[in-house]
Amino acid sequence: MRNKIGITTTVPVEVLLAAGYQPVDLNNLFIYDPSPGRLVTVAERAGFPLNCCTWIKGIYGVCQQSDIDTVICVTGGDCSNTRMLMEVLRLKGIKAIPFAYPDEPDVDKVYLALEDLAGRLGTTLAAASRVRDELAPCRHLACQLDRLTWQQGLVSGLENHLWLVSASDFNQDWQKYRNQLQELITSCQQRIPYPEDMLRLAYIGVPSVYGRDLYRYVERNGARVVFNEIQRQFAMPEPGDSLAEQYANYTYPYSIHQRLKDIAAELNRRRIDGVIHYVQAFCHRGIGDIIFRDALKLPMLTLEGNDDFYVNPHVKTRIEAFIDMIKRGKKGLRYSGQALKK
Ligand code: SF4
Repeated sequence: MRNKIGITTTVPVEVLLAAGYQPVDLNNLFIYDPSPGRLVTVAERAGFPLNCCTWIKGIYGVCQQSDIDTVICVTGGDCSNTRMLMEVLRLKGIKAIPFAYPDEPDVDKVYLALEDLAGRLGTTLAAASRVRDELAPCRHLACQLDRLTWQQGLVSGLENHLWLVSASDFNQDWQKYRNQLQELITSCQQRIPYPEDMLRLAYIGVPSVYGRDLYRYVERNGARVVFNEIQRQFAMPEPGDSLAEQYANYTYPYSIHQRLKDIAAELNRRRIDGVIHYVQAFCHRGIGDIIFRDALKLPMLTLEGNDDFYVNPHVKTRIEAFIDMIKRGKKGLRYSGQALKK
């Protein structure tokens, strides 16, 4: 039985597995908890401010309520709050190991960061490379599921979200993940595809606190999400020729322009009609909305979630109005131009 190691976002799991650990994505434990609000309360009672991101508080709550005693804290390329979270976890007796993506997706710099992590965990990059080969079928299947979503209309936006977001830790058991995903893909082939004329939306930004609710509500209003940006990145769609290349091609930790290039290409390829940009309250990434709105020429709805773990009536109204606006504007015209304004 492997020792569990918590992760605060997607990290090079190959290194953790090579070191004999079982990675556990603390975000997933938090959001799929039967009562995520309870975990936020644990953090607030410990002194986390009300105006601190709910994900950070949820991760802290999970750490306090589970048997996880070691956590990899991503201090570069993810969240400015994680550095302080790391200090608090240490204060509470949890072993917190920092990992930082470099400032730019330079393969040599990523290599050094991976080597440093491997050294801290007592393994080597050669061993991690072998794990990469073992995980390749999981990543390949995740990308296949993604194609079945947007190319063939056989997979829902929710299923797409759930399987891709789970690629951060492969639901704590990569062999089971691979087998279950293979079964799902096989069974999808028997499904009746979604109607061709259904509105096609993209979801960009960090995964929302709304969980399953958002996707279901979008579908109930005659649209479907056929692109989950960050979730797809978790599956590493551009694995490159080495572990260092794989994590240099992973867009999330680097400049927003890196993400924008990926997003624009996928908006075109997937014939997207409109974009939902989700931002988390009190998150620095929300400022990126200015850049997305400046660069992307598709209709965009920005949703800011905090600690409502469902789509509340206010958000429902905004989603309905957004979809209605696109339907009226489209009038049978499918967007087919370039996604970028310039
Ligand atoms: S949503 Fe933003 S503030 Fe919250 S954990 Fe993620 S990066 Fe950090």
